[in-house]
Amino acid sequence: MRLSRYFLPILKENPKEAEIVSHRLMLRAGMIRQQAAGIYSFLPLGKRVLDKVCDIIREEQDRSGAVELLMPTIQSADLWRESGRYDAYGKEMLRIEDRHERELLFGPTNEEMVTDIFRSSVRSYKDLPLNLYHIQWKFRDEVRPRFGVMRSREFLMKDAYSFDLDFDAAQTAYHRMFVAYLRTFTRCGLKAIPMRADTGPIGGNLSHEFIILASTGESEVFCHRDFLDLGVPGEDVDFSDAGSLAEIVREWTMPYAATDEMHDTAAWDALPDAERMAARGIEVGHIFYFGTKYSEAMNAVVTGPDGKDTPVHMGSYGIGPSRLIAAIIEASHDEAGIVWPKSVAPFDVGLINMKPGDADCDAACETIYGELEKAGVEVLYDDQDTRAGAKFATMDLIGLPLQVIVGPRGAKAGEAEVKDRATGERETIPLASVVARVTA
Ligand code: ATP
Ligand code: MG
Repeated sequence: MRLSRYFLPILKENPKEAEIVSHRLMLRAGMIRQQAAGIYSFLPLGKRVLDKVCDIIREEQDRSGAVELLMPTIQSADLWRESGRYDAYGKEMLRIEDRHERELLFGPTNEEMVTDIFRSSVRSYKDLPLNLYHIQWKFRDEVRPRFGVMRSREFLMKDAYSFDLDFDAAQTAYHRMFVAYLRTFTRCGLKAIPMRADTGPIGGNLSHEFIILASTGESEVFCHRDFLDLGVPGEDVDFSDAGSLAEIVREWTMPYAATDEMHDTAAWDALPDAERMAARGIEVGHIFYFGTKYSEAMNAVVTGPDGKDTPVHMGSYGIGPSRLIAAIIEASHDEAGIVWPKSVAPFDVGLINMKPGDADCDAACETIYGELEKAGVEVLYDDQDTRAGAKFATMDLIGLPLQVIVGPRGAKAGEAEVKDRATGERETIPLASVVARVTA
């Protein structure tokens, strides 16, 4: 992509309304624009990151055996009356009336709708286990939308819903998602810690929030240092092996970890000081087993092996990809701007032509640009006629993992500079080795 043809509305000044670094940097890097309180456009650079994050989420959901579908944003109020949540949900729900005075709503979540889809066609335990997910915009009329896409009113959510015959099978479904989440957040360059969450009237211990430690987090969290050293399962993890999944979950739920809502001060006080981390955290995911709450209310039953009908056991599993982007920036930035983990960077490389119009610079850049594109590398080529200082500042701000810098003197000598955004290290290499260096 040539910067001269791209749409990258960089802000030079710090926007006053932004209280936290991710919000500031997303606005400054031209990733998002606020359209109304808590409602944002994702501009081209932001859209690329959102797509990368969603691709990772999708791959890990698919790997775990979940099946993607797409449910609408607009839902019928009647469906929510069946579960009793139409009135219970309160003011966070955006209620709408159509021209025929039918009551609709903009979905804040999809338990009712997915239960309706399930009951319309699944009859037998033989069709289980089943896990259906989608990635769709949600609307919650938050009292205090703030921090940009971290807590917005319209936001993207990956929500998955599992259906199983009994508690044991549902527990395994829960474990599958737990492991998929560990892998998802790690691939996004984050260390997410699963923390016990409130299960409400359902009881048990099958509810966890996945929390990123960050000083700007909204919740106070308490966890054991051991989490920093725990390994995340590899690609080869066997999602059909219930025993090994349970073992991974056991390992990841052994050390103490709780948000302030669930904090057990006695257990905490018993830990040696050096092993404790009291910090702030950002919730990026939440998984929850809720049993037959919706299936009973909405008559979603399957015939078991004994020929008897039973309400199906369900769980729901959410990740907020738009909030996740902000969390990644909170965890990975410096004074100059964003430092993207490779896996979610909007482009792999920024190519800087320090002097457009200079024949050597132009020729060298065109060759590198063409070859990188041919090699499948995503390049943002700054071919604009602007000051070198401004070009460097923009590239640092948008945080692409590598920069290839071509100046008139280097181009004449047949050389380019390669800069690693995270470490700041620079090396001068022959123009002919740039592609090999970048793809290494
Ligand atoms: P919170 O306690 O932060 O309001 P929640 O418990 O309401 O979150 P869930 O209903 O579990 O969230 O939604 C699943 C995921 O969706 C969350 O883990 C989070 O990543 C994301 N999410 C929820 N609310 C918002 C929001 N207002 N803006 C952006 N992302 C959100
Ligand atoms: Mg909420």
